[in-house]
Amino acid sequence: MSNSNNGLLRRGSRGPAVADVRARLLALSEAHLPDKTGLSGPGVEAEVFDEALERAVRTFQQLKGLIVDGIVGTETFSAIDGARWALGDRILRYTPGHLQHGEDVSALQERLNTLGFAAGRVDGRFGESTELAVRAFQRAYGLPGDGSVGPETLRAFGDLKRSVSGGSSTVLRERERVRRSGHSLSGRTVVLDPGHGGSDAGATSNGLREADVVLDLARRIEGRLTAIGVDVVFTRTETTCPTDEERAAIANRSGADVVLSLHCDSHDHVDASGVATFFFGRDRRNAWSAIGEHLADLVLREVVARTPLANCRSHGRSWTLLQQTTMPTVRVEAGYLSHPVDAALLAEPGFRDTLAEAVLVSLQRVYLGDDDTNATGVLRLGDLRAYLASGG
Ligand SMILES: [Zn+2]
Repeated sequence: MSNSNNGLLRRGSRGPAVADVRARLLALSEAHLPDKTGLSGPGVEAEVFDEALERAVRTFQQLKGLIVDGIVGTETFSAIDGARWALGDRILRYTPGHLQHGEDVSALQERLNTLGFAAGRVDGRFGESTELAVRAFQRAYGLPGDGSVGPETLRAFGDLKRSVSGGSSTVLRERERVRRSGHSLSGRTVVLDPGHGGSDAGATSNGLREADVVLDLARRIEGRLTAIGVDVVFTRTETTCPTDEERAAIANRSGADVVLSLHCDSHDHVDASGVATFFFGRDRRNAWSAIGEHLADLVLREVVARTPLANCRSHGRSWTLLQQTTMPTVRVEAGYLSHPVDAALLAEPGFRDTLAEAVLVSLQRVYLGDDDTNATGVLRLGDLRAYLASGG
């Protein structure tokens, strides 16, 4: 900003600084300023802050969520200045003392957060936490972790989009849905996929049938989801047992935001116990659902924090359902029916409610993204409702 710009510019102001603001507004894309009527043309004095300039400033402020006063102070000027950068226009890096700022940095921060690399608040300033997140992303994807965002790192974002869950359009949908859809779970569609069904009981042990346990669990999750305005689609009824391909097709047709596949495990070794989660991931460079991984990790952590089930970790797999669904899909193996303690827990309705709540909180946390400062295992549904009601 030039020196003459240090003061506030408002209706009636004159000088080169006004011309500068006018030129910057004229250079903005449609998305940032849809209407440029009266900003230029015959009879317009570039150095005079006239009515048309004030109108343009107000429109811009409104679009950016700034205070709409038609006055160009430091904050509005900074936003106008930052609006000219789109991700990829320049190399981004951490420069202490003079932070790069702009919408390209905001876009980067959003992208990192969505992929599970916590870049901190989306403030459009490339600070230390943004750099740390970039380095973590680079390390995870096999790039030199130099913390600067140039063509190679941007290409990795692009490859990731193409590789997540398979086809490019589906990946764009996966990312776009999470990014654009805001914090709220309500209005979304969730596919619940209770494993097995019909004549396929799944694991049977300690008096429990896996197919029944997971259907009951799915209904408990369904009840909580529908209560907050989420559409729920089941892949099966009590009597049907679709193949994994059919389950994936049901999910894809539903246009769901996310798929949760519910199973319990079983093992010949009676000691085997605990909860594990699975997401689509064959190799990190080429076939990996970052959002699936993030959700799988959250589900695991919430369940482990709320129940006595042992932590059997979260794993990338290329199983049919995980691979063929076009949205993030997480499979939960909730406890071993072959393990006496796990089975006793799973037999209790109250325990299944706890599992359902853990799943629901995990779903919500995926969409909280950057604003998710909640400690694992402490968030309750009531808190979420209060949070959402408060406009979060
Ligand atoms: Zn199963």
